[in-house]
Amino acid sequence: MNNLSRKTYSTVNLPALLSNYTQIANLAPTSKTIAVIKANAYGHGAVEVAKYLSPHVPAFAVAFIDEAIQLRDAGITLPILIIEGALSYQDLSIALEQNFWLMVHSTEQVNWLKQYPTPYVGKLWLKVDTGMNRLGIKPSDVDGILTQFSPEQLENLVLCTHFSSADELGNPKTQLQIQQFEQVNEKHGYKKSLANSAGILSWPKSHGDYNRLGLALYGATPIPINDLPIKLTPVMTLQSTIMALRKLNIDESVGYGETWQAKRPSLIATVAIGYADGYPRNAKNGTPVCINGQIATLAGRVSMDMITVDVTDIVDVNVGDSVELWGENLTIETVAEHLDSNNYELLTRISNRVPKFYVK
Ligand SMILES: *Cc1c(COP(=O)(O)O)cnc(C)c1O
Repeated sequence: MNNLSRKTYSTVNLPALLSNYTQIANLAPTSKTIAVIKANAYGHGAVEVAKYLSPHVPAFAVAFIDEAIQLRDAGITLPILIIEGALSYQDLSIALEQNFWLMVHSTEQVNWLKQYPTPYVGKLWLKVDTGMNRLGIKPSDVDGILTQFSPEQLENLVLCTHFSSADELGNPKTQLQIQQFEQVNEKHGYKKSLANSAGILSWPKSHGDYNRLGLALYGATPIPINDLPIKLTPVMTLQSTIMALRKLNIDESVGYGETWQAKRPSLIATVAIGYADGYPRNAKNGTPVCINGQIATLAGRVSMDMITVDVTDIVDVNVGDSVELWGENLTIETVAEHLDSNNYELLTRISNRVPKFYVK
């Protein structure tokens, strides 16, 4: 780490990743738990994460084929589920060659399969739209669609759906989606996959032959921390450093737009991370950071390369001290409470300007 002129980086704790995986997979012991590593493994580095998890998981999932090709190029050999499926007819042959499992969510995709010159023998997942209304075949259309698959395709078919509100534990929608899905599958008895992280953690009835574990794998939670059946460990710790300290008199302001004024003589730390690094510009005054084990709060608007923090009450603070934006000592969920976003977005939008270091 000596070659970093700016000590702003994220640390990715791989043993924590595996411990989260194992604990969560144990909540659904009869399911296979697929590790979802789309969007560069939620900002953690898809290749590193895939290499580390490969001996422990049955398959990976990504959003689209380019993400999967990147993994194959890096030597990952496990099956990879493509959540958006083929985005063009050409994708079919790539998927077949590379052992990608294609989700089929539209009549266009079914037509491409039918146009394939030889019987398409790759593994297919048929997505049923039970109320997300984004992708998938309507329950009433599923039987008709199924008649267009070959017997071989049907033999290995996985029927799947996706929840819109599984993170809301009191919302009856999830139960309704499960019921709709089961009604469709009742007469067919295909292998099934319903659960995302929230499903695995909170909706045992949604556990299928395959579950699709994303966010919680990384130690972040889609449901309130107090409702978690297990203890998750944050995998990413995002850190920076104090570049400068300055004293402010009462009524002096900080940063663009003067959105924060000192109500008392204050000490302000300027920290070397900004929105160009993916730290959210909409983080409000009062958003917490952790310095020397103590919580300090954002004062003034987030700039492109810097943030400013009120450290008046922090004991023993110096230029060069490290600042944790979230991670081991400060949950990303706490940070997310102070801005108009969630932990998914915070993790995935950390930019390439922030180097990652892997703890093995
Ligand atoms: C992203 C995604 C998942 C994983 O969701 P998490 O909430 O991150 O666990 C599962 N299934 C589909 C279809 C997805 O797009």
